[in-house]
Amino acid sequence: MYFHYQQIMLGLHLAILILTTPLLAGIISVLLLGRSRRNTDIPPGIVIHSVINHARSGFTYYNSARFRQLIARLDELRYTACTLKAGISNCREQIQHGRMPFILTFDDGFANFFEQALPVLQEYDFKATIFPIADFLGTREAWDIFSPLEHLSVTHVREIARLGFEIGSHTATHACLPFLSDRDAIEELRKSKNTLEDTIGAEVVSLSFPYGCWSLRIWQLAQDLGYRYATSYRSHHTTSTGIVAVHGVYSLDTPEDVVLKITKARTISNSLARSHIIPHFAKGSTIWRFRAAYAVERSLLQCSHKSKPR
Ligand SMILES: [Zn+2]
Repeated sequence: MYFHYQQIMLGLHLAILILTTPLLAGIISVLLLGRSRRNTDIPPGIVIHSVINHARSGFTYYNSARFRQLIARLDELRYTACTLKAGISNCREQIQHGRMPFILTFDDGFANFFEQALPVLQEYDFKATIFPIADFLGTREAWDIFSPLEHLSVTHVREIARLGFEIGSHTATHACLPFLSDRDAIEELRKSKNTLEDTIGAEVVSLSFPYGCWSLRIWQLAQDLGYRYATSYRSHHTTSTGIVAVHGVYSLDTPEDVVLKITKARTISNSLARSHIIPHFAKGSTIWRFRAAYAVERSLLQCSHKSKPR
């Protein structure tokens, strides 16, 4: 069987196109996303889910030895970690003290923050915002049936707040808010705020959107309830809303990868690409992108606390 020269060339072109399209898409998205999150008034931000010292499957954890190396390296580079609230309001103050601030956040409120991350942060005088899921305080993780992690207890959260760390809301049940009716979304936002405020005896003004899912409608509802700051790793929607884009830190990231996410957000790298690609595997993400479908029934979408968090 013989192929004509033109057929071979056509095949080659098609092969090159197929192989390079994802690469080009990745480069373009990183460039666009990098540009959208550059805001000189707001420091760069990262989000970590778990810091653990044992083997585990999945991507949403960070090794505790690597975490220590990361914090030491950032300290050496004269970076300092601050809460979301302080990062927005006192950013320039930190720069005046000769240190570059970055916003450090922990989603889902796992107890390993208290055990593995807190001592290291204390050692370096780094602060962070922790976003527990209000209804899950003191419970075991429901997402992983093989090796469930413990969530922070009420006592943990009080102690963390007492040490000067910020406590924010990650909703009451880890709900994907844009899929909810106004009434249900308000309930998630209000209930979690009240629970956490009762726990720490102080106002809760920061919010981390579960799955990074948010819409202008949801952010308006949240602001009406007294939230002032929010994070989302869907940085391409961070424009003039005041919502801070955070890069996810995952198990595959080396400390240098994470440093890169903080210091050179526009550099194209494997670690940056992972920050954008991995959250897209979170349940509901694909549907979330078709925002016209927000009106679809909640029960159909199954985007509830039973879903795997990111
Ligand atoms: Zn989460």
